[in-house]
Amino acid sequence: MPGGAPGTPSSKAKEKLMLRTKVVVALYPFRAIEGGDLSLEKGAEYEVLDDSQEHWWKVKDENGSIGYIPSNYVKEKELLGLQKYEWYVGDMSRQRAESLLKQEDKEGCFVVRNSSTKGLYTLSLYTKVPHPHVKHYHIKQNTRGEFYLSEKHCCGSIPDLVNYHRHNSGGLASRLKTSPCDRPVPPTAGLSHDKWEIDPTELHLLEELGSGQFGVVRRGKWRGSIDVAVKMMKEGTMSEDDFIEEAKVMTKLQHTNLVQLYGVCSKDRPIYIVTEYMRHGSLLNYLRRHEASLSTNVGYLLDICIQVCRGMAYLERRNYIHRDLAARNCLVGSENVVKVADFGLARYVLDDQYTSSGGTKFPIKWAPPEVLNYTRFSSKSDVWAYGVLMWEVFTCGKMPYGRLKNAEVVDRVQRGLILEKPKACVKEVYEIMRKCWAHCPEVRPSFRVLKEQLINVNQGLVND
Ligand code: ADP
Repeated sequence: MPGGAPGTPSSKAKEKLMLRTKVVVALYPFRAIEGGDLSLEKGAEYEVLDDSQEHWWKVKDENGSIGYIPSNYVKEKELLGLQKYEWYVGDMSRQRAESLLKQEDKEGCFVVRNSSTKGLYTLSLYTKVPHPHVKHYHIKQNTRGEFYLSEKHCCGSIPDLVNYHRHNSGGLASRLKTSPCDRPVPPTAGLSHDKWEIDPTELHLLEELGSGQFGVVRRGKWRGSIDVAVKMMKEGTMSEDDFIEEAKVMTKLQHTNLVQLYGVCSKDRPIYIVTEYMRHGSLLNYLRRHEASLSTNVGYLLDICIQVCRGMAYLERRNYIHRDLAARNCLVGSENVVKVADFGLARYVLDDQYTSSGGTKFPIKWAPPEVLNYTRFSSKSDVWAYGVLMWEVFTCGKMPYGRLKNAEVVDRVQRGLILEKPKACVKEVYEIMRKCWAHCPEVRPSFRVLKEQLINVNQGLVND
């Protein structure tokens, strides 16, 4: 039959479908520094030539120039939706939207974000009248599919609705005026396509950020433009060759709630580990510094836990075990984003005091029975540690088990005694912590399930 059987595309049509070009739009600007990369101009369109690698795609711009770009900087044109608008912030939580708008401190400053109820959107609006605060409005839809904030003013789309309320407050606390600008650009998976070895002469080292187990951490600039943190590994503290091999895998782990590894300087000693820079430092110190304002804000504390859980759920999906999850190993960045750091690093530490459960530096207070007894690490031992991290968050950075000695902690854990409920913690959240501390690893929930449960509790708390 000419044209093929009804309902099945002809071979010509099939060919056409297969040849259909993928066009993407740049969500952020990107400056090509390394040869072979291509710069991106925000809002411009690019044709995708090769998307076989996850993080770096080969594209062509409108002038015919070809090169690699970070795939998390673009979005397929057909799937773009609201992402092209300055005011749309996607999955940002109510708490982070509030702190972002308060920081801007401009009357009528607003964002539209995904509501915690899937598929719905919320408008968050800052006003100084009668005192500085943020109002949250659900964007509703009527039976005709039109969007509205007040039933009197319905519009065919959310951008139309935003435009309408730029001119008419129509029942809102203020007209919509501006949205936050200069929002941070996300890190790329490595500093360029297929690059994890970094030339140390291209790093300009700045002030010291802190020091830890492995040595000093300093802020730096890569090629004068990209902020980085540089961890200078004390010699003899880690099995370097194994780690350098692993770093290639680690640069490919990319998630909003994981500190991005950019690469390593491994040709000279000491080795440098180069990561994304996180301006507010470790979560543990952040909690302690802001205790006064955080301790009464259950929603904010819960949001911190949810962010860490998202990062951990990504690692769990990738079958990647952290082995040393704790508030001291999470970092806080621009717009108060919380990210998990140092994942997997524990495997390369040479110090017995850190790696053996009898050692003085071993994180006993974050370890479940099977790790204490048989050093058996798994995503479920990470879940136990995550429960302790939740406890650290809800106590604003107290030391778990107070001053108890390690041996006493081990004894307690073996007898099934668990940490008490922190004051700031509601009973539903404590229930979730307790599930993380099930004696038997198989009984503990996965991070995927924990994430859903925490989001549900959050929804109940704030009616987002
Ligand atoms: P170690 O893992 O060697 O013990 P850490 O990673 O804890 O060292 O780093 C020590 C301190 O350095 C942290 O507590 C934090 O204050 C700072 N720091 C580490 N990494 C970063 C980063 N990416 N951005 C900003 N500060 C950082």
